This record gives sequence, C-alpha cells and structure tokens, in this order.
Amino acid sequence: MASYREILAQAKAEIDEVTTLEMVERVGLSDAPLFLDVREPDEWQEGHLPGAYHIPRGNLESRIEALVPDREHEIVIYCASGARSAFAAKSLTEMGYTSVSSMAGGFSDWKRNGFEFETPKVLTPEQRSRYARHLLIPEVGEKGQQKLLEARVLLVGAGGLGSPASLYLAAAGVGTLGIVDGDVVDDSNLQRQIVHSTERLGEPKVLSAKRTIEALNPDVQVEAYQERLTSDNVERIIGEGWDVIVDGADNFPTRYLVNDASVWHDIPVVHGSIYRFEGQTTVFHPRVGPCYRCLFPTPPPPELAPSCAEGGVLGVLPGIVGSLQANEALKLILGAGDTLTGRLLLFDALANSFDEVTVKRDPSCPVCGEHPTITDYVDYVEFCNLAGRGVAQ
Ligand SMILES: [Zn+2]
Repeated sequence: MASYREILAQAKAEIDEVTTLEMVERVGLSDAPLFLDVREPDEWQEGHLPGAYHIPRGNLESRIEALVPDREHEIVIYCASGARSAFAAKSLTEMGYTSVSSMAGGFSDWKRNGFEFETPKVLTPEQRSRYARHLLIPEVGEKGQQKLLEARVLLVGAGGLGSPASLYLAAAGVGTLGIVDGDVVDDSNLQRQIVHSTERLGEPKVLSAKRTIEALNPDVQVEAYQERLTSDNVERIIGEGWDVIVDGADNFPTRYLVNDASVWHDIPVVHGSIYRFEGQTTVFHPRVGPCYRCLFPTPPPPELAPSCAEGGVLGVLPGIVGSLQANEALKLILGAGDTLTGRLLLFDALANSFDEVTVKRDPSCPVCGEHPTITDYVDYVEFCNLAGRGVAQ
C-alpha cells in the first residue's frame, strides 16, 4: 500500500511543475495561462492570484469542461502548497488536457514572495441575512448583490416618485444614492411622499430622505444635493459618476437638463411622470434607445405645459410609478431582463390597466442624433416660474 508521500511524489513525477517566480512574470500578459485555484471557498476568499478562476478540488472534474472547453488551453493550477494542485493537474492530464501544470509552493509561496494578490469582496453575515431573498434568485445572487452594493444611482427629486424609488433601491442594497432636491418638506407633500414624515416638516427634503434611508439600511450612503438642478450645477452633479439616473422631476427644464447630461455622460435615465390617475415610465438609454429629446425635441409652449400648474395626483400613483422606476434601475445594474428602453409604459390607475407604446430613436435628434445642434446646457428658465418650487412631484 502506498503512503501519501509516495502517491504525491508519483503524481509530481507525472506532471509539469512551474514556479511562482516564473508565473509572476506572466500575470496580466495577453498570453498568460489560465490560473486555476483549486482550494476551498474560504481559502479563496482570503486572497487569490489576480484574474484567477476558482473551482474547488472536489468539483474540478465536473466543472472544468464548462470553464475550459479547449483542451489545449494552457492551465496553471495552484492550491495552498502545491500538493492538491499536483493531483488536480494529473487528473486534468488524464482528461485529455495537454498543457496543464501545477504551481509549486502554491499560494503560500506566492504570498511569501510578496507578489500581488486579490481579495474578493464577500458579503458579511449581516448582509447575507439582510439580502437572503436576493441571494435565492439566480438573476441576483451573491454576484448581483455585490453589483448593487457597488452601484451608484442618482435620484433627481425626493418627492412622489423619488420617495418609493429611493426606499426600494436602499432596501435592495444599492450602495450609493445621490439625491438632488432643493425643496423643504411641506405638509401638502405627505399625501404621497412617503420617504418624509410629519416630524420633518420644514426640513430640507434631501436631509429628511437621507435620515429615512440610512435608518432603513446602513449599507447605503446618501449623497445629498440640496439644490435645484440648473445649467450651472448639472455638470458638477452628474459628472460625479453614476450608473443610473432615476428622474422624478416634475418640470420640463429639469427633464431637459437631465436628458442632455445623460446623453453626454452616457448614463441611462429611468424616466417617470404622473398626472392625476395616469403615469408613464420608460428608460432613455443613450445610443441604445431614444432619448427624451428624440420624443420631444424642445419644450412645448409654457401655456400648454401641465407641469406649470400644481397638478393633482392620486397619492398611490407615484408609489406605483416610482416602484416601476426602481425596478428598471435594479435591472439596469444587474443586467437582467428586458428594460423599458424604447418602450413607453402607460398606467391608468382608474382602469388599473397598463399599455405600451414603442418609442424610437430619431436620427435627427438635436442631442443624440447624427448631427447634434444642441451641444451645451439650455436653461428653460423663462418656461415656468420655478422660484420657490422644488423639482419633485
Ligand atoms: Zn435623442
């Protein structure tokens, strides 16, 4: 009967070994081998070679063909010390892989030499519990949850639409929420703006929203912009880098500023609007679908714009439309499902019915078209008397 030492020595005699010193020269190069880590998940989580793949030794034979279908692809296997990887290399050679080697000394030697390694971000036990219902969905899972935690979403407006959208995005664990709103909480807001409360009357909406959101989920950082979006500040605010913008503005000047900035910064905008019992939502994804100006190249005459008057709205309607916007934002971050890009979703609360209209990109659009005529921000200030008004519905 052979001892462990003997079968290890025998395995090593049958395979090729490489050194950490040889391999560190090749990390990141275009002809770098595929580095395959065969250690256990907890070892992998404490650090691994940059760009390495991970299949625990016990799953190697069943999963390698899916990862590396080409049996001539160069593979360098490593473990902690070079023993498990020697057996793994032997097994892959027997499966017909022709260019497999084991890294002698393994990850311990790599670390001892002071070579660079990556530490994967993992969810804390508290996060595993908080996002347990996300982790059960394949479209989200641990990877998707990490994406959400790393995502930055800018909400324009902390009003009727921004309230449900920000609450659901925060609950979902979107790590950074920017909120732009220059208004303070007024008692006429509370019929629908559920992120605020009676005790916050008179408080800036961005600070009220920040308090509610951070109390809901400590994983979320709120960047508060207590100002109304204008041509003077739009570049500074949008330029801070966002993955998605959720537009909950109730007025045309802000919508055009958000649109033009989003096209120039290449950021998808989840648009929402509400009036009485009717809501609309769509996604303006620059260069993928139409932008707002493809539909409405310039604002309508001020006297025809419904947003210039204080419009009535059923309190629950922004709850529904804002939630639809949060859904689109989450899908854009996760890369899951079909977004509303190129589709305008119409909701009628009285009939409780949804309708959908296809919206197309306009090649002659003044902003995203082939020959743009608008190349700088336009303030449609004369458009409505916005003095003393906030931006959110
Ligand atoms: Zn356009």
